[in-house]
Amino acid sequence: MTDCIFCKIINGEFNTEFVYENEYVVVFKDIHPKAPVHLLVVPKVHVESLNELEDKNLMGELLMAVKAVTKKIGLNAYKLHVNTGKAAGQEVMHLHIHILGNM
Ligand code: 5GP
Ligand code: ZN
Repeated sequence: MTDCIFCKIINGEFNTEFVYENEYVVVFKDIHPKAPVHLLVVPKVHVESLNELEDKNLMGELLMAVKAVTKKIGLNAYKLHVNTGKAAGQEVMHLHIHILGNM
């Protein structure tokens, strides 16, 4: 999606550093961190929110990416947030999982 900020990040338009990447997802630091560790796990395909996600394989890949990146950085205690829908505070309409940790 051309006007989507996360699609632009995925396409490398801002030279964002990826903490983790595989065929399905990228993980990068939130620009306004709300915890000492604040990462965003983002599918490479544009899906607006969890409401629009139908691909069960991708659902699994998103959580597997959470496990992979937290293991990679040695974070074994964390919270996940998935804001879904503008009324719930979703600002970027490209599905993402927030990882929040205190290390
Ligand atoms: P939401 O409220 O949609 O669940 O969260 C969107 C998150 O994306 C916010 O925490 C915000 O700080 C982060 N964000 C918005 N624009 C950018 C950006 O250009 N780069 C990065 N790294 N994070 C962003
Ligand atoms: Zn997008």
